[in-house]
Amino acid sequence: MWRTRPDSVSVWKIPEVVSRLNRYYQLIKEEKIARYLLAKGISTDIKLNSDLSTLWQEHERLTQEFSSFITEYDQGVHSNKVPASVKPSFLDLKIKIANEMLKECCFCERKCQKNRETGELGVCKVGKDAIVSSAFLHTGEETVLRPSGTIFFSGCTFKCVFCQNHSISQEWRDTKSGEILDGVDRTPQQIALIAGALAREGARNINWVGGDPTSNLHVILYSLHDFKVNICQLWNSNMYLSIEGMKLLLEVMDFWLPDLKYADNHFAQRMSKIPNYWEVITRNIKMAHDQGSGEIVIRHLVMPGRIEADTYPILEWCAKNVPKALVNIMGQYRPMHQVRRHSDKFNEINRGITFEELTLARDKAEELGILWKPVS
Ligand code: SF4
Repeated sequence: MWRTRPDSVSVWKIPEVVSRLNRYYQLIKEEKIARYLLAKGISTDIKLNSDLSTLWQEHERLTQEFSSFITEYDQGVHSNKVPASVKPSFLDLKIKIANEMLKECCFCERKCQKNRETGELGVCKVGKDAIVSSAFLHTGEETVLRPSGTIFFSGCTFKCVFCQNHSISQEWRDTKSGEILDGVDRTPQQIALIAGALAREGARNINWVGGDPTSNLHVILYSLHDFKVNICQLWNSNMYLSIEGMKLLLEVMDFWLPDLKYADNHFAQRMSKIPNYWEVITRNIKMAHDQGSGEIVIRHLVMPGRIEADTYPILEWCAKNVPKALVNIMGQYRPMHQVRRHSDKFNEINRGITFEELTLARDKAEELGILWKPVS
């Protein structure tokens, strides 16, 4: 049986943590209702076989309605009971839009426009069905999240040369034969059952992660259709979603756990083969902060020799633009994957970070008034 770690309890004695993550804290105590359950209680008037632009117009309208609905629920205007699910609901509308987007995939900013429904594959190599690598009660996440009901999907929209999970993010599918090397096909119904089991084991949240969960947006939304437990939904991601992908998640996710690795786009392109990193990721984190639940822990992995070029501008941006977010300043960078295999090519990051680098990062966060200690 799972036993509570002391710091996962004592963290809730810090008033600033409770204040910034107040709705999540109340959700843990079952005093609030998870956003996805509220989205199931809002009905749509249109037919779900309408064209995509009509579906998006209705989505805009229901986004406004959701905002009033959740405010009323949080103020106790309604009883604090889960609203009755309606058919078709706002969640059904989101599922329908996601399935349409799958036919010309634009879940992330790579916008491959492949028809994944018919088996075409984009950069992430994830097809129509979700491949789940593992699912378990994670006790190594941030204090406020433990124990976390993590569901790891195979596949990722990034190609980080230092990835510590490369067997599930990049090397889970044989590039020639297409054979799955890590993970098992899971239907949305099976995933809902897995999430239910994690909730029963004592998870504080359902933690959608990978690789990266973005490629499985349609499956995750569909699994919530079959899921009924009042538990926090947590998006644990590189955050390289398209604006449309973000919009589908904003009313569904209670908690955001985004990475913010680089401020320098050239370095991002070289290390993760990703264009426009800074503009996309900061845009999406700001959306989660201003238009979503606003309950966020940003993970910043300090990298060797990158304090001035990445860490400082990132911390400055966080302090100015997402003041409610907590920041986990991570010191666990290790040379892995391609960096190890081709150390001559990636010599500048072929070492762990120094104590001095971590101290500089933490001192800067302190100077900027960022809340980092309770989650780092
Ligand atoms: S999720 Fe992103 S990388 Fe994968 S196919 Fe869709 S647009 Fe391409």
